[in-house]
Amino acid sequence: MKTGTGGGSPDHAGGAAARSAAEVERRYALEVYPKRDITIVKGRGAEVWDDRGRRYIDCVAGIGVASVGHANPAVAEAVAEQARTLVTCPGIFYNDTRARLLEKLAAIAPGGLSRGFLCNSGAEAVEAAIKFARLTTGRTGIVSAMRGFHGRTLGALSATHKEAYRDAFRPLVPDFSFVPFNNPERLRGAVGEDTAAVLMEPVQGEGGIRPATLEFLEAARKVCDETGALLVFDEIQTGFCRTGRMFACERYGVVPDMLCLAKAIAGGVPLGAVLADDRVQVPPGKHGTTYGGNPLACAAALAAIGFMEGERFAERAEVLGARFRERFASAKPKRVRAVRQVGLMIGVELRERVRPYVEALGAAGVLTLPAGTTVIRVLPPLVITEEQIDEVVEVMVRVLE
Ligand SMILES: *Cc1c(COP(=O)(O)O)cnc(C)c1O
Repeated sequence: MKTGTGGGSPDHAGGAAARSAAEVERRYALEVYPKRDITIVKGRGAEVWDDRGRRYIDCVAGIGVASVGHANPAVAEAVAEQARTLVTCPGIFYNDTRARLLEKLAAIAPGGLSRGFLCNSGAEAVEAAIKFARLTTGRTGIVSAMRGFHGRTLGALSATHKEAYRDAFRPLVPDFSFVPFNNPERLRGAVGEDTAAVLMEPVQGEGGIRPATLEFLEAARKVCDETGALLVFDEIQTGFCRTGRMFACERYGVVPDMLCLAKAIAGGVPLGAVLADDRVQVPPGKHGTTYGGNPLACAAALAAIGFMEGERFAERAEVLGARFRERFASAKPKRVRAVRQVGLMIGVELRERVRPYVEALGAAGVLTLPAGTTVIRVLPPLVITEEQIDEVVEVMVRVLE
């Protein structure tokens, strides 16, 4: 390959490799995300490495995605094998791998949630649930919770409370309303004959790791039953053992009519799902997605879910989450106002803005996420070891002291 002077070297001849990924992304990506100045190039288990060879304990985990760990061998093997067999197969045909996944999801789902629709992301799962609720009930109203987060597409965004996410995109979809989270009285007042669905997270993630009260979820179930509305739980973040149960609603014993899933479902391969009970009726031809339920993602999900079961992930999350809370509580770093923890879904609320501390934790080798302005969100892969949990606690205590 020609290098050096005369005509300059073309971009495809190593130009990108010579510059850092950060420089190239800054030049060629739309600035959709507020960026952190770390270029991650490799992962294994609960750890990732940057382009300078620095190691981090990854309590971002792809935003609660990498539960089975980075570069999980079972998922890698399943994806490679499926890639050699059949990558794509649209929903108009049947497929063996998809059939196995749908059967698996029905087997692990609570209650009678025995039918699934497969898509490619969390927001798409929420969109589908909204459309299925409108189709089933012939009504339009969607009631969701303040501080709730359901995704960035226009329907999911219409159910998402945060004004900063909404304000540039009006008009949003009509007939969406909000009630204060954990206020059963206001919920009962908001749900009526026009309500197609009540949509909420059993533990709010992005909203600051806030668990619903049992009273609130029971009121939601009851008012839906009384009015004919459908109850939809968004377990995109809480699902797949994150909270110490396969699904967070099992902690409450409240079964929804639809369950929205994504994030950890397929070991990091994009996949979303809606699981529905028999009340939900969808006539053929009213909804669809080209990639949804593709064999590649389904094979990854089967491997990931099998791994979670084999490694007893629910128990693991429960035990390791308690270990984090106890060790952290006994150190009581002074900037911390409160710790909210359900399994390995952990929110550390500070008395001040968290941004600088999230940066400082990164510099100290622990990647975390903000949830709102004052909460540090800790979502480690569920394969994280006791030693790694202790290291996370030790670093956090030091940085937050
Ligand atoms: C991440 C998330 C979504 C959106 O999922 P995407 O895959 O980013 O579209 C929706 N709801 C909850 C609770 C989430 O955590």
